[in-house]
Amino acid sequence: MLRTARALTASLALGVALLIVPAASPSPAIGVGSLPECRLDDILTIPRGYDDWSHTLVDWILSVGPGYKPPDLVSISRAGVTGGGQIRKVAFDDLEAMAGAARADGTPLGNVSAYRSYRTQKALFNSYAKGYGFDRAINFSARPGHSEHQLGLVIDFAAAGTSKFVSETTPTGRWLAKNAWKFGWLMSYPRGKQDRTCYSYEPWHYRYFGRDLAAEIHDSGLTTREYLWSHYTTVDPKTGEHVSTASPAPSGSTAASPPPGEIPPAPAAPAAAPTTTPSGTDSMGAPISPPAAPAGTWFGLEPPIVLTAALLVLVSIGLVVSLRRARRPRRR
Ligand SMILES: [Zn+2]
Repeated sequence: MLRTARALTASLALGVALLIVPAASPSPAIGVGSLPECRLDDILTIPRGYDDWSHTLVDWILSVGPGYKPPDLVSISRAGVTGGGQIRKVAFDDLEAMAGAARADGTPLGNVSAYRSYRTQKALFNSYAKGYGFDRAINFSARPGHSEHQLGLVIDFAAAGTSKFVSETTPTGRWLAKNAWKFGWLMSYPRGKQDRTCYSYEPWHYRYFGRDLAAEIHDSGLTTREYLWSHYTTVDPKTGEHVSTASPAPSGSTAASPPPGEIPPAPAAPAAAPTTTPSGTDSMGAPISPPAAPAGTWFGLEPPIVLTAALLVLVSIGLVVSLRRARRPRRR
């Protein structure tokens, strides 16, 4: 009798513990199904305050607009990186630490391009579109307002003293691919991920997130665009409305398979006189999939929680029955 009561208590405790544990750890891939496809649009991103720097997303859809200019730009050269240019002060200390570590390992860092204003980006993109055609240019260059360079958090790295983009076959590019995340920097457009990032592989383009968030994104295995969309971006990707949580409007499949990978050419000098942005920008993306029910949940709960609850109920019923049997006087 006492043994049965103890077993019942232990089972209940175990059941409650199992019920609590899965609820406390959110599923890391919960937002992946909601990643909007690579469709050209001009929706103002949310959040985009200057203090929201680590969570602000710009991509083919989302823009910070022409008026966005970080208030705390500082010179990169003081951090021990050659090539001039500016980044936000929030990124300076970790850039200096990273530059010191890279130098100590024999691969000192240089900069090809860092902060770019809306106006500079407009001239640059238009020169690419003119030279390569809009449909090619959009794969390796952002329209004005959509560039991470306008955030003041990006550096296109070179080996120190040069102005040639690093690749992962050069010592400096390899060092960055292995170590940059430890200092808060992540490669925005990795190899083979164009269906998710919308841009072709850029082994030189790193964005600063701060060490904690960079480590989280690195450990998630997601691209920075996927991670921000699923955790922080609170704008409906179709209507531009503010929404209360990240990952609005799940849209089934993400995007069509990426076009054949191509290495973008070396940057050309921006056109002297900016021309207007080519029209027809809405024709690039595939049709939007109809909204689908959120996958991966049962009755709105995570499957492990539902299973544990069912198990708990079954175990309790079994124990109550055996308890009653044990109480019943034996009449044999
Ligand atoms: Zn870049």
